[in-house]
Amino acid sequence: MGFAGHPAKFLMSNREHRFRDTRHGLWEMIHDVLVVCPRCGACANITTHPPGQREWFAPRRLTCLHCGLVRHWAKHVISAGGHEARDGFFGEPLWLQTPCENNIFWAYNLEHLTLLERYVAASLREQRKDAQWGWINKGMFNRLPKWIIAAKNRAAVLKAIDRLKLRYLETG
Ligand SMILES: [Zn+2]
Repeated sequence: MGFAGHPAKFLMSNREHRFRDTRHGLWEMIHDVLVVCPRCGACANITTHPPGQREWFAPRRLTCLHCGLVRHWAKHVISAGGHEARDGFFGEPLWLQTPCENNIFWAYNLEHLTLLERYVAASLREQRKDAQWGWINKGMFNRLPKWIIAAKNRAAVLKAIDRLKLRYLETG
């Protein structure tokens, strides 16, 4: 994962008028979570171990390429609520988080951030009927806090997304 082009281009990417809901679930985003390394403060990754698993309770591994820290997680409890800007496995602060409109805007990884950006930037949001689920709202976009999707906050949220994109570029 990375962006090879100029940072300014990176900031303006993904901002189109129309957004078509892909029905991604938040659970699909947690296979790769960027957090602040508890040892050196640089960006560390939490991935499933072995990689590529999509289950909530798949074993996880925290690795930091900067200081070499490796930690393992294999429990049957994920902490949630109250600490949304931390990962639910090791409880470390998310790397991609920033204050916005008296809240914390956060994303697990670049894919998650990009989806949020596309959603917030679009003025036209379409939902498609899902072959399996019909119109039942299963996607992560139907569960976004109101302050993120409020039209009056759009500019502020897009600025927060800019800050997180720049922070992503610092992951090294
Ligand atoms: Zn580290």
